[in-house]
Amino acid sequence: MTDPETTTALDGCSVVTMDAQRREHSTGHVVITGNRITQVGAGRAPEGLPDARYVDASGCLATPGLINTHHHLYQWVTRGMAADDTLFGWLTTLYPVWAGIDADIVETAATGSLTWLARTGCTTTTDHHYVFPQTGGDVFAAEVEAAARVGLRFHPCRGSMDLGRSRGGLPPDNIVEDRDAVLTATQAAIDRHHDPAPDSMLRVAVAPCSPFSVTGDLLVEAAELARHNGVLMHTHLAETTDEDTFCREHFGCTPVEYVDRLGWLGDDVWLAHGIHLDDSAVRRLGDTRTGVAHCPTSNARLGAGICRSRDLRDAGARVGLGVDGAASNESNSLWEEIHHAVLFARARGGPGALSVRDALEMATIGGAEVLGRQGEIGSLEPGKLADVALWRLDGLGHVDIVDPVAALALGAQPPLELLLVNGRAVVERNRVTTVDEAEVARRVATASTKLLSRAGVNR
Ligand code: ZN
Repeated sequence: MTDPETTTALDGCSVVTMDAQRREHSTGHVVITGNRITQVGAGRAPEGLPDARYVDASGCLATPGLINTHHHLYQWVTRGMAADDTLFGWLTTLYPVWAGIDADIVETAATGSLTWLARTGCTTTTDHHYVFPQTGGDVFAAEVEAAARVGLRFHPCRGSMDLGRSRGGLPPDNIVEDRDAVLTATQAAIDRHHDPAPDSMLRVAVAPCSPFSVTGDLLVEAAELARHNGVLMHTHLAETTDEDTFCREHFGCTPVEYVDRLGWLGDDVWLAHGIHLDDSAVRRLGDTRTGVAHCPTSNARLGAGICRSRDLRDAGARVGLGVDGAASNESNSLWEEIHHAVLFARARGGPGALSVRDALEMATIGGAEVLGRQGEIGSLEPGKLADVALWRLDGLGHVDIVDPVAALALGAQPPLELLLVNGRAVVERNRVTTVDEAEVARRVATASTKLLSRAGVNR
C-alpha cells in the first residue's frame, strides 16, 4: 500500500499535464505525496522537500497514466484464434471455447492481460466480462482479485448475454444466462465490489453485451438497475456492418436508434466502438454527451472499420481509447492505441484528421471523462490522484524527435521508466514490480492449454 508520508519528486522531465489549459513544460517536475499529486510546474523540483525521494527524470516525458475504456481480460488465454475472420465469424469460433472458462482461468488470464497493460502505460482499465458459465465459479471476483494484485485502478463491467441462438441471437444457448439471474448477479457485484469514494480503486458498471446477444428487455431492466445504484452503463454498439444489418432486420432501425429507444444514451453511458454511425447518429451521441470507447487496433484486426473519432469529439461526445479484448488485439497495448488512433484517423480523413495531442488527450483526460472521473484522474494537477507514466525518450528510438508528444505518438513504444498508480510504483525501468512476469507467463500457458483442451481444440 501507499505510505501516506512518502514524497516522490520527478525532476527535470518534460511534462504534458493535460490540464484545462493543456499546459506543457519542456523541463519540469511532478511532486507526489502519498496517493496525490501535490506540485506540477516548470523548472526543477523545489529543493529540500521533507523526506522526499528525488528521481532524476531528465530525458523522460511525464504524462498522466493512460486510461483503457474497453477490454475483455479473460481473452488473454485465447489469443491468435480465427486470425483472419470477421467479428461474427471470430465470435462463432470462440464462443464454444469461452464456454469452458472458470474462476482460475479468468484470474490467470486477467493477471496476464493487466500485467501487459501496465507495461504499456495503463494505470486505469475497464473490463467488460460477459461470459459466466454455470459451473465456472465467481469469475467476476477472480478478475477483481487479479487487478488488486497487479495494482491497476479497475472499472470492471458486469456484462451479460441472454439472447441465445435458439431465440435469434448469435451466441450458443449454453453460454447465455437467464435475465433474472443476470440482474441478481449484477446487483450482487455492485454490492460486493463497487466503491464510489473519490480515490476509488474499483468501480463497477452494468454492461449487457450487444444488440445481437442481449434482449431489449434486459437492456431496459439493466439500465434501471444501473441508474438506481448510481453506476455507469456500458455496451458494444455499431461495431460492424453485420450488426447494422441485424438491427435493421430485427428492430427496423439503426443500432443507435435502437438503444436510444431503450434509454441507453446519456452522460452515464459509454459505448464500445461506434464505427458505423451516420451523421444523425454522431449528432445524437454528441447531444446526449454519450461516451465512446474508440478501439482502433481491434477494429482494424477484425476489419470492422474506423471510428469517426474527430466527428464524435466535434459533436460533443466523450471519446476515450480502448484496447478491446486480447483475442482481437493480441498486442494488448494501450500505448499502441494512441499510435493507431493517429495513423488510422489520418488514413481515413487526411493529415488534419487527428493531432498527436488529440490522441494523447483521448488516452488520458478523454478516458477519464468517459468513466466520469475527470475530477480525479486523467491529468497531472495538484490534488489529483497520482497516476503517472514516465516515458524514457533519450534512447535511440526517440532521441532526435524534438517534440516529446510526437515521439510518444509516432515513434515506437518508449521504455517506461516509471508507472505510478495511486502513488505506488507498478512499473520501474520497464519491469512490472508487483508480479513475476515469467511466472505469470507459465501460468498463462498452462491455463490456455487447459481451456483449449476442454473445448477439444488442438494446437
Ligand atoms: Zn469488446
